[in-house]
Amino acid sequence: MTGLSLAGRGAVVTGGGRGIGAAVARALSAEGARVVVSARTKKEIEGVAAELRGRGAEAWALQCDVTDEASVARLGREARGALGHVEILINNAGDSASAPLRKIALRDWERMFAVNATGTFLCTREFAPEMAERRWGRIVNVASIVGLEGAKYVAHYSAAKHAVLGFTRSVALEFEGTGVTVNAVCPGYVDTPMTDRTLANIGARAGVPRAEALALVLGTSGQDRLTTAEEVAALVVELCREESGRTGEALLVSSGARAR
Ligand code: NDP
Repeated sequence: MTGLSLAGRGAVVTGGGRGIGAAVARALSAEGARVVVSARTKKEIEGVAAELRGRGAEAWALQCDVTDEASVARLGREARGALGHVEILINNAGDSASAPLRKIALRDWERMFAVNATGTFLCTREFAPEMAERRWGRIVNVASIVGLEGAKYVAHYSAAKHAVLGFTRSVALEFEGTGVTVNAVCPGYVDTPMTDRTLANIGARAGVPRAEALALVLGTSGQDRLTTAEEVAALVVELCREESGRTGEALLVSSGARAR
C-alpha cells in the first residue's frame, strides 16, 4: 500500500489538455491514479501527460472528440489498452457561449448540447457498464452553476448543463448498489482559458479592459473572486475517493456565489 487514496486506479479525464481538466488530471495523478488525458488538441494533452510522467506517474495522451460516437468508442478501446480497466471517468470536456436568445442559431444550440451533454452521455455509456461489472467506479461530470439556475444570455449553455444534471441523477439511480457513484460538480466562474475568452468577449463588447470585465462578471455572479481550477479538482478527487459513498449529487464550487 502506498497510502495514496487512488493508488493504481485507472482514470480518464476528458478535456484534460488545459483549464479544469488539466488540474483534475494533476490532482488524480497526485493521489496515485494512472491517468489518460484526453481532448482534441494533441499538443496540449501530450504536454499534460508528459508533465505527469515527469513526476514519475503513469499517464497517456489519447485524442478524442467527445461529440463523435466513433471517436469515443476508439477512446474506449485505447484507454482500456493503456489502463487495463477504466475505473474513474471525469466528464469535463465542454464549451460555453453567450448570446441573447434571438441571436442563438440552431447550430449554436446544437453545439452546446453536443459537447456538454451528448459528450457526457457517450463517454458514460462507454465506460460505466464495465465499472458496474467490476463493482467499483467513480464518474464525475463537470456541470456548472448555470446547470442549477438560469442566467441571462446563456440559455443554450445553461440548458445543456441542466441536461448534464438530469443525466447525472438518473444514471446515479440506475447504478445504485453496483459500487459505481455518479456525481456532478457545479463551478461558478473559474480561472481558465474558457473564462479568459469570456472576459475578452465582454471586454470587447463593452469596450472595457479585462479588469473591468472581471469586476462586472464577479458583481453579477456574486463571487468574491474567480474560483481556481485546483479548487474544482480537489472536489472532484474528493468524490472519487475509495470511501466516498456520495452519489447523485450536484455540488457547488463557486467562491461565494449561491445558486438561486
Ligand atoms: P477550457 O476551454 O479551458 O478547456 C476545455 C477542455 O475541453 C479543453 O481541453 C478542450 O480541448 C476540451 N474540449 C472542448 N471540446 C471538446 C470536444 N468536442 N471533445 C473533447 N474535448 C473537448 O475550459 P474549462 O477548463 O474552463 O472548462 C472545463 C469544464 O468546466 C467545461 O465543461 C465547462 O463547461 C465547465 N465549467 C467551466 C467554468 C469556467 O468558468 N471556466 C464554469 C463552470 C463550468 P480541445 O479544444 O483541444 O478539444
